[in-house]
Amino acid sequence: MVLSAILIFMIINWIFALATSSRPSAHTRIPYSPLFLQEVAAGNVATVTSRGSALQGTFARPVSHTPPGAKKAQTITRFQTEIPTFAGTTSLLKQLQSRNVIVNANPIETATPWWQTLLVGFLPTLLFIGLMLILMRRAMHGGGMGGMGAMTKSRAKRYEPTSGQHITFADVAGIDEAKDELSEVVDFLRQPDRYRKLGGRIPRGVLLSGPPGTGKTLLARAVAGEADVPFFSISASEFIEMIVGVGAGRVRDLFTQAKAAAPAIVFIDELDAIGRSRGAALGGIGGGHDEREQTLNQILTEMDGFDPSTGVIVLAATNRPDVLDAALLRAGRFDRRVAVQPPDTEGRRLILAVHTRKMPIGNDVDLARLAATSAGMVGADLANLANEAALLAARRNHDTVGMSDFDDVLEKLVLGTERHIIQTEADLKRTAYHEAGHALVGMLTPGADPVRKVSIVPRGVALGVTYSAAATDRFNYTRAELLARLDVALGGRVAEELVFDDITTGAESDIRQLTALARQMVGRWGMSDTVGPIDLLASDDRNALAITPTHAERVLDEEVSKLVQAAHARATELLGSNRTRLDALAKALLADETLDEHGAYHAAGLPVVSNVARGGHR
Ligand code: ADP
Ligand code: MG
Ligand code: ZN
Repeated sequence: MVLSAILIFMIINWIFALATSSRPSAHTRIPYSPLFLQEVAAGNVATVTSRGSALQGTFARPVSHTPPGAKKAQTITRFQTEIPTFAGTTSLLKQLQSRNVIVNANPIETATPWWQTLLVGFLPTLLFIGLMLILMRRAMHGGGMGGMGAMTKSRAKRYEPTSGQHITFADVAGIDEAKDELSEVVDFLRQPDRYRKLGGRIPRGVLLSGPPGTGKTLLARAVAGEADVPFFSISASEFIEMIVGVGAGRVRDLFTQAKAAAPAIVFIDELDAIGRSRGAALGGIGGGHDEREQTLNQILTEMDGFDPSTGVIVLAATNRPDVLDAALLRAGRFDRRVAVQPPDTEGRRLILAVHTRKMPIGNDVDLARLAATSAGMVGADLANLANEAALLAARRNHDTVGMSDFDDVLEKLVLGTERHIIQTEADLKRTAYHEAGHALVGMLTPGADPVRKVSIVPRGVALGVTYSAAATDRFNYTRAELLARLDVALGGRVAEELVFDDITTGAESDIRQLTALARQMVGRWGMSDTVGPIDLLASDDRNALAITPTHAERVLDEEVSKLVQAAHARATELLGSNRTRLDALAKALLADETLDEHGAYHAAGLPVVSNVARGGHR
């Protein structure tokens, strides 16, 4: 707001500067002496008009003149010149009169009324002050004339079922369980009587919970599209304003609108922005505690207040169901919860199918293979993948979006964008050994995910990358597999230790990852024999801890450090006894920069372990 005000201020000033400055005139400047006096003497001056010390006029015949600084001569008929203060104007006047020159004086300059001068001078400032006042009033009281009333009007966007954005269940793929649960809601909205007759209590609130990008917002809109009812959508963060009470007003207004349009859906997106547990001290969000609490209370009141038979169903979505206030989840409020999970391989294929529906797709495109190689991606990522592939194909002047376009975009999304930086030979060698260390530990450790790609091309902040991935989606990991991950993560640092005199900062992200993994193994998954199956990391709710916090921290630190040291010892042993393979792999990396699965295993003199015919990335 302030920025736009400043911008407007600058534009206004600029316009006035233009309007008041002397416009570039059609008169060419010429010297008073000798040119002007010469032309007067020659009788070639037809008219003159005086303007203060300036004289403008016309020549009878065009005069050729080269202004100072210009290269070419100009032909001038309209001229302007300045009369020096020491030049005698009486003799000039006599000369002009004797040659019948028409002499005028221009009165405009002096005739500007004083108020006009004042106005022109101050108008930009006045306008600016006015603008600031309006903006400040807006910010403080809301909506200028409307005041409080306009402010508390809900900003809910209403999507009528007939509007252009008609999203149905056909647009949502790969999250069938959530779709199934919501089709019941659709059914109720379509034929409420069937349910009422049997005396069933219709859920008032349905909470969609799941990681970002899994399609919660999309799903809610699809419900509205399927049910063919008005859909009032608002993001909870929009409720939060600086002034206490505004959010509550908006909630009231939102529900009034929905009840009037019933059957209808009220959709509150990102519910955790207001619905956070009231016990948890979380300052800093919008208007802070009071505002959130009032808004939350109003939602609770509204949800309790309406009779489910009015046909209003409240849908809400959140990424953080764990932080929601218990009061929201009580029966009769958001009593039904639908988990929206990240899609599995088949789900990813179906989502890709939805998003490539309208694209001209090449014959070689294998969505199943893309789905298999995009483990961990959610709907939003896949939509992005499809879109980026289409953009890349356009940039490459392809007629269709081909598999190579998809593969290249996927690689960029998974591994990061390649960066071109100049590195010394020594730096490259170090990176080659670092990555070879990761890769070799990965190839030699049972339980580690197969190595798919090793590269010393810098990407993002990383100088190199070793990418390993399982052949199928994984939902559960054994301790042996996680220990293998620790070993692989340490492989880079250990290789540096073995080959070079000193170690570098290059292992920063490896260390961060392996520390986080080790902490979870000990504190969350009960994988340390000393600690046993005790949740040491439930820091959100200290009361639930089985042991005192300080004690918990100490044993956690001890066990994590033991785990990591053991992994370090294993990696050192492994790489030390396979030094020739390490050297060979590093050498191959220096020569080729990037090795795929086959190249990497071959360079290390090992048989390829994975039998998946999917070729990794590219
Ligand atoms: P969330 O609300 O869970 O964070 P969104 O619903 O906003 O995620 O998803 C963002 C976009 O990603 C959607 O508009 C859609 O294009 C795509 N998308 C996400 N999930 C799916 C899905 N299951 N099927 C199809 N497209 C999806
Ligand atoms: Mg969303
Ligand atoms: Zn590393």
